Amino acid sequence: MLAAINRHLESSAQTIIDLQRSLVAIPALGPLNGGPGEKEKTEFLKSYLKDMGFPDVLELRAPDPAVPCGYRPSLVAVIPGQNTAKTFWVISHTDIVPPGDLALWDSDPYTLKVDGDILIGRGVEDNHQGVVSSLVVAKALLDLKITPDMNYGVLLVADEETGSKYGLDYVVKQHPELFGPDDLFLVPDFGEPTSTMIEIAEKSMFWLKVIVEGKQCHASTPKAGINSLLAAAALIVKIPKLHERFDRQDPLFDPPHSTFEPTKKEANVENINTIPGRDVFYLDCRVMPGYDLDAVLNAIKEFGDEVEREHGVSIRYEYVQREQAADPTPADSEIVTRLVDRVRRVFGNEPKLQGIGGGTVAAYLRRAGHKAAVWSTLMHNAHQPNERSSISCSIKDAKVMAAMLFDA
Ligand SMILES: [Zn+2]
Repeated sequence: MLAAINRHLESSAQTIIDLQRSLVAIPALGPLNGGPGEKEKTEFLKSYLKDMGFPDVLELRAPDPAVPCGYRPSLVAVIPGQNTAKTFWVISHTDIVPPGDLALWDSDPYTLKVDGDILIGRGVEDNHQGVVSSLVVAKALLDLKITPDMNYGVLLVADEETGSKYGLDYVVKQHPELFGPDDLFLVPDFGEPTSTMIEIAEKSMFWLKVIVEGKQCHASTPKAGINSLLAAAALIVKIPKLHERFDRQDPLFDPPHSTFEPTKKEANVENINTIPGRDVFYLDCRVMPGYDLDAVLNAIKEFGDEVEREHGVSIRYEYVQREQAADPTPADSEIVTRLVDRVRRVFGNEPKLQGIGGGTVAAYLRRAGHKAAVWSTLMHNAHQPNERSSISCSIKDAKVMAAMLFDA
């Protein structure tokens, strides 16, 4: 059966080109990126799915007053399997990021360019490749009238590029009835050109703004003021001590430990002969799962209290971003072991389980207790000019997805 599906997939290049051409021509930009959302693109996909022969296509609308239609649509379509109590889900997103500086593009970002095996246009990789791979699998099953061993679920979500609040986060929270405890989740939205990377864990992400207030004065009479830059520097050099308190190691991650990095520093005074009275800097922290971000903030505040006492400044802290990591998907869970086996079979490579330093949409699934893996074969040019996607990689990724559906 899989052999017949694979033959069907191998002859799907034209389907992939045609579908990518249609998708590229309907830019789905969220309101934070200056667009009207995913309505038009999702309507196209909804009728595409129906024409393919999906028995049911469910549209979920997350209310969002920031777009003209008032909602952000996601689509759910399932092909029933022999075992209807278990679903293998492939989750892709429909929204894109803006093309950026058009001068950096060699062609119109919203007109698909085909160059041999390579497709070029905004969104072709991020995340149309996931969309088309998941859809050609469905087309093969429907055309060949094959019932997979478990249900095959295609989920096309809105709003991945600007936070997922109106996309996967909404779907998981508002429609928990869609998902069963034995379901398997694949998110084909990150990966290596070698197809070897399977992401199963992520660090917590924590961006902190630190505001140090002293007292401005003339630099020739420093005693008349309080130098906020000196105090900020004193705090910055204490930050690496966080490694001693939060020292958990895990070779799944690269680097295999938390990172605590001072990054941006706002400008203070304009002239050299003024002692600054206010300094603002930022920290980017990627914290190993299992640590509470409040504990990290409290440790930073302890350092800050010391600096306040020593320098006479006052220090305030503001969260810029705070994403507590979800529990990792266990390496021995079915989605992972099955995926490793099928990737190895299709690509003849040795997949590696990995953790990454920032949030992916899989976190919304993991937080809800689902087991999710992020994998695909990507050339890493998402969000860049001349975004590219390989037809042959799309087909091979589809073969992995198809093989996931069969036990043998
Ligand atoms: Zn993406």
